[in-house]
Amino acid sequence: MSINSRISGLRDHTPSERLALVADGAGLDPAALDALSAEGGLSLGQADHMIENVVGLLAIPVGVATNFTIDGQDRLIPMATEEPSVVAAASNAARMARGHGGFTTSYTGDVMIAQIQVLDAVDPHGTRFALLETKDELLALANEQDPMLVSLGGGAFDISVRVLPTRAGAQVIVHLHVDVRDAMGANAVNTMAEAIAPRIAEVAGTRTLLRILTNKAELRLTRARAVFDVELLGGAQVVDDIVAASAFAEADPYRAATHNKGIMNGITAVVLATGNDTRAVEAGCHSHAARSGQYAALSQFEKDADGNLVGTLEVPLAVGLVGGATRAHPTAQAGVKLLGVETARELASIIAAVGLAQNLAACRALAAEGIQRGHMTLHARTIAASAGAEVGEIGEVASRIVADRQIRVEHAREVLAALRAGRNPA
Ligand code: NAD
Repeated sequence: MSINSRISGLRDHTPSERLALVADGAGLDPAALDALSAEGGLSLGQADHMIENVVGLLAIPVGVATNFTIDGQDRLIPMATEEPSVVAAASNAARMARGHGGFTTSYTGDVMIAQIQVLDAVDPHGTRFALLETKDELLALANEQDPMLVSLGGGAFDISVRVLPTRAGAQVIVHLHVDVRDAMGANAVNTMAEAIAPRIAEVAGTRTLLRILTNKAELRLTRARAVFDVELLGGAQVVDDIVAASAFAEADPYRAATHNKGIMNGITAVVLATGNDTRAVEAGCHSHAARSGQYAALSQFEKDADGNLVGTLEVPLAVGLVGGATRAHPTAQAGVKLLGVETARELASIIAAVGLAQNLAACRALAAEGIQRGHMTLHARTIAASAGAEVGEIGEVASRIVADRQIRVEHAREVLAALRAGRNPA
C-alpha cells in the first residue's frame, strides 16, 4: 500500500472532511476508517465484554499526525490524546526530518521475558546450575502451551537464571525468553511461566512464587534516528541550544523525567490509538531510562558534520497486533488499518519515530521560544471549552484570550459572557 503522509492544510477542514482526506492519503476506502469517527467507535455492548462493571465509555480525541516517513515509507499516524499541541508538534517535527530521509529504525526482536521466582533454595548457586541443566526440557514444556505461536516461528527459545540477593535472603530467578512474534505477549508468556513453574520447583527441591512477565522488555528494543534540518529548526543557535538541553536531560534525573514525559506524549498516544497496553509500555520505557542505576533521558541530540541536528531514541516497546484491545476495539482496528502495518516490528518503529519527533518538538520549543507560546495558544481552545463555550464559540473565545494574553478560565468566562451579550469586554 502506498501512503502519502503530506496532506497540506489538514487543520483547515472539519473532522469528517479530514477523515476523507486521510483515507485518501492512505489509499483506503473512507468506510474502512468509520470506526475513527465519533459515531463509529466502540459500542457499550462491546465495552461490556472488555472489562467488568461497565457503566459507560470515555471519549478521547484521535488526531492524525502527518509528514512522517519511516524506514522509507510514508505513514499517517493516529494519535489518541487529550493534550493540545501534541499532534501538531509531532507533524511539525516530522516535516523537519523529511528532507533528510525521515526516520530510520532498528529492532532487537519480538522477545519478551517471563520471570519465575524460586524461594528457599538451600544452595542457590547449585540450584541455578541444576535449572540450567534442564533448559531443553523446560523450553519444550513451555512451547507445548502455545502450538499456534510455535507454528508461526515463535516460542520459548532460551532460559537464564539469576541468584538475586534480597532482604529476605537469596532468591533464584528464572528468566524464560520467548519470541512472541506479533503479539504483545503478556498472556502468552505468563501461561508458559505458570506451566513450567511446577517442574522448576521439582528441580529446585523447593517452591516457586511469582510467575509473570517483566515489563522491562530489554530484549524488545526499538531504536529510531532522524536528522532534523538546521534551517527549519531556526538556525545554528537553536541546534546548539537543543544539544545543550539534551545534555541536561542526559545528566539530570529531574530534567530527564520531563524530557521523557515529552517522549511519552507521542508514544502513549499511538499505543492507545492502536489498542495497546499503555501501562506496559510506560513501565518498560521508564525502567529502561533507569537502566544505568540513575534515571536518565531516553534520547540524545547531537550536531552532525553539516550542522544539522541528529536525534536518537532507544525504547523497549512491547506492542502487538493480535490479542488484547487491538483486536477487540473497532477504533484500534481502524487505527491499525490507517497505519498499514502488518507486524509488531513495523508498529514499534512508528511508535519510536513519533516519540522522537515529539521529543524534538518539545526540546525545540523550550530552547527557542519557551514551551508556553505554542502550547498555550492551542490550550486556549480547551480553556474556552472549560469556560462553557459551545462548539461555535470556542474559536472566537480562544483567539480573544490569546490576544489578551490572559489564557485563564476566568477570563474566558468574561469574554464568553461579553460575546453572548453582544458587546466587547473592554
Ligand atoms: P493474547 O494471548 O490475546 O494473544 C497472543 C496469542 O495469540 C499467542 O499466544 C498466539 O497463540 C496467538 N497468535 C495468533 N497469531 C499470532 C501472531 N501473528 N503472533 C503472535 N501470536 C499470535 O495476547 P498477548 O499478546 O499474549 O497479551 C496481551 C494482553 O495481556 C494485553 O491485553 C495486556 O494488557 C495483557 N496483560 C499485560 C500484563 C502486563 O503487561 N504486566 C499482564 C497480564 C496481561
